[in-house]
Amino acid sequence: MADRSYLDWPFLDESHRDHATRLADWAAVLGPIDHHDTDATCRDLVARLGADGWLEPSAVDPANPKPLDVRTLCLSRETLAQTDGLADFAFAMQGLGTGAISLFGSPEQQAEWLPLTRSGKAISAFALTEPQSGSDVANSTMTAHDDGDAWVLDGEKTWISNGGIADVYTLFARTGEGPGAKGLSAFVVPADTPGLSIAERLDTIAPHPLATLRFDGARLPRSALVGQPGQGFKIAMSVLDVFRTTVAAAGLGFARRALDEALTRVTAREVQGKPLSELQMVQAHVADMALRVDAAALLVYRAAWTKDMGAPRVSREAAMAKLFATDEAQKVIDAAVQLHGGDGVKSGETVERLYREIRALRIYEGASDVQKVIIARATLDAATRDG
Ligand SMILES: Cc1cc2nc3c(=O)[nH]c(=O)nc-3n(C[C@H](O)[C@H](O)[C@H](O)COP(=O)(O)OP(=O)(O)OC[C@H]3O[C@@H](n4cnc5c(N)ncnc54)[C@H](O)[C@@H]3O)c2cc1C
Repeated sequence: MADRSYLDWPFLDESHRDHATRLADWAAVLGPIDHHDTDATCRDLVARLGADGWLEPSAVDPANPKPLDVRTLCLSRETLAQTDGLADFAFAMQGLGTGAISLFGSPEQQAEWLPLTRSGKAISAFALTEPQSGSDVANSTMTAHDDGDAWVLDGEKTWISNGGIADVYTLFARTGEGPGAKGLSAFVVPADTPGLSIAERLDTIAPHPLATLRFDGARLPRSALVGQPGQGFKIAMSVLDVFRTTVAAAGLGFARRALDEALTRVTAREVQGKPLSELQMVQAHVADMALRVDAAALLVYRAAWTKDMGAPRVSREAAMAKLFATDEAQKVIDAAVQLHGGDGVKSGETVERLYREIRALRIYEGASDVQKVIIARATLDAATRDG
């Protein structure tokens, strides 16, 4: 039986406990998830999550606007990741893909798109990365040219999750109000915009819909701008400030599942006439895994709670949660593979799937190395400030 004691931690309240318990019950009867045709699977998962109301926390409700509840986002991702990476992915992208609209969108933009994405009737995506600028967002080169009555987009975005199946993209492009980070703006781009095409579909070790997008003179109405011209970098970082902690929560969910799989295995499997769990070196693995899971959970829910309590930015807390939870999940899953022996690397085994699914979380929404830079800067700034 999976450990649920963390739900009683003081970071969470009764509504969170209820949400996590009901979602876990829902996910338990989801049935087998096909990882071959990921376009069809993700469309189906978004529709099912939406039909049963699970996407509602992913974006602001325009009819009753309240701040996003980061703890609910994290519990949703943690719970779904324990079931399956694509279930987590389908939920996560509805939030990341509309984060700019939830946080900075006009009432019209919110009314047009958020009821659709919150109900699973439209799929969303977040288009920031370019072929020459992933970590280095400030050097994005794709342009949005002000043509009087329209914005005209030219350039490429790559590694765009849900690229190819999304109905709407939130996109960041250079509008030139200033150099580097000061010259970017955010836009809402419907997928059927003339001049937008899918240049390439990308395959990975744990596939989900991914594409490179090309823009050739794609014209957007002036109302497509999110926030003010030149605010794009700030908008992108504010979105990541919320959703980075949820990546950590997904890593935590994968790690919890790996620990559960390992516990089942080491108590059932016998060597030398006794269960593996009676070997001290196996117990050392179990202790390390349990410690890593709890320490990661503390950082995840500390960051989420801090944001929910009204902190304007939680870059340091979110970076610590993402760095630790995803790096440690990799170690927990590796130990689970080890404890499964040969079965650990057999295609179709749960721990083999987790081993592939965790890897990209240490790269996207800010690579682990970049999180270290953020933590170091915040720590040094605080030391300088405090004398
Ligand atoms: C599966 C997957 C899904 C993705 N989905 C999306 C999406 O939906 N939308 C989107 O916009 N992007 C998405 N991305 C892109 C992702 O955000 C970038 O891959 C990531 O930011 C890294 O950028 P890069 O690949 O250009 O690597 P680079 O920027 O070239 O970095 C390579 C490596 O260099 C090191 N490094 C880079 N900068 C620094 C630094 N400042 N300090 C220390 N070390 C550094 C790190 O080890 C880093 O991993 C996705 C990527 C993957 C793999």
